Amino acid sequence: MWEFGAVLFSFIYFLIHVAIESSQIQTDLDKGYFWHVTDLHYDDSYGKSGQSCGFPVSNPGPFGNGSCDSPLRLIEDSIMTMAKIKPDVDFILWTGDNAAHIPTSEFSLKRNLYMIQTTTSAIKRKFPGTLVIPSYGNHDFFPADYTNGTETAFYDTVCRIWSSWIKDPEQMLTCRRGGFYSRLVSPKLRVLAVNTVLYLIENPKSRNLTDPSAQFEWLEETLTAAREAGEKVIVSAHVPPTIPSPSVFHWFYPQYQGRYVELMTRFSDVIVAHHYAHEHSDTFKILQRNDETGASPVFLAPSVTPLRGTKPSGEQFAHRNPGVRLVQYDRQTGRHLGYQQFYTNITEDNNLGKSKWDELYSFTNAYDVPDMSVSSLRKIYHKMAKPFGAFILQYCSFYSVTSTPDDVCTLEEQAAFWCGGQLTDLNKTNECINRYMKQDQNVL
Ligand SMILES: [Zn+2]
Ligand SMILES: [Zn+2]
Repeated sequence: MWEFGAVLFSFIYFLIHVAIESSQIQTDLDKGYFWHVTDLHYDDSYGKSGQSCGFPVSNPGPFGNGSCDSPLRLIEDSIMTMAKIKPDVDFILWTGDNAAHIPTSEFSLKRNLYMIQTTTSAIKRKFPGTLVIPSYGNHDFFPADYTNGTETAFYDTVCRIWSSWIKDPEQMLTCRRGGFYSRLVSPKLRVLAVNTVLYLIENPKSRNLTDPSAQFEWLEETLTAAREAGEKVIVSAHVPPTIPSPSVFHWFYPQYQGRYVELMTRFSDVIVAHHYAHEHSDTFKILQRNDETGASPVFLAPSVTPLRGTKPSGEQFAHRNPGVRLVQYDRQTGRHLGYQQFYTNITEDNNLGKSKWDELYSFTNAYDVPDMSVSSLRKIYHKMAKPFGAFILQYCSFYSVTSTPDDVCTLEEQAAFWCGGQLTDLNKTNECINRYMKQDQNVL
């Protein structure tokens, strides 16, 4: 009897063991990776004054300079690094801004298209068989920012440059109609490449419109169809609908801002994450209604260009190193499991004469969370509520893509990061900043 019991116990133990192993295999099989690379800002006149550098830079360095946009060497080096670290990704999100910040009087449509063609070829060479999902940035148009969706010849030319990735004739149609389309990346996961430059407040051509290129209509239809088909959605676009940090304003005209947030919060059950760019810095936010319902996680990836931004005070940021991001996700559910942020210190690279890319941080390790979900972001924001605490200072250091926190945020900047990361209403954000400054940050 005892012997039978022992055999039965061993058999049950064996079954449990097999079940655990197969569930681990299943879990491993479901993990996929994608890169997010953005804001390459290729300058074919790198180092020359009056172009992206704006003023004379005596020794710009072969890998890039904080006062200029990217030389070709930096762009090729960044893409080569991605291919070395993880060549077999499922897809690449590429969120625009391929041309340099060159004054319109010194620039041309032909040169603008040449920069898009050059960056496209650089990606194709290193990732020949990989699905790339490009979206338009404000520095993909000539003049920069100018589009209302009626520039048919321009959209047609650029969408054709990207056609080997977009492929589907129906998606090519919307790409040529206004620079937006969708791609299924696994049986139940869809990426929406959205053209948010149409809503940008610096874009004079879309100031008085209501739905340029009928993109809102398309978004509503596509999200509804995804919900009905049981799909999950990743939103990928250049200009974010969230409040930039540390300045507090909206990137979108008011008529688009409200509609975009209303639409995206209404479909938060379908959307697993938003990925944006444009700010050339590393932040993550929660897109939600004022009452914290309808929440989705938002991630802004840092740029490849090292061109430094300017603080609200007018002072330039001390650092802006180039970065590329590798995201791990679950192919079945779209759940974002974590990311690794890679960077290179261009000051050191220029001194050494070679680049030295490294992991800056892993999201889940640095912030001690299990994944990139809204509930993980809420936990992080809870920890960042303490001014000058370790978490908010770490966020500030990563913001500028640096491992040395010598560009520490002021209390006011910390308040803007904390409040602007969780709110989309400007008045509520400013009220929240006042409370944070008084260290009474418990209420958003
Ligand atoms: Zn940019
Ligand atoms: Zn931009």
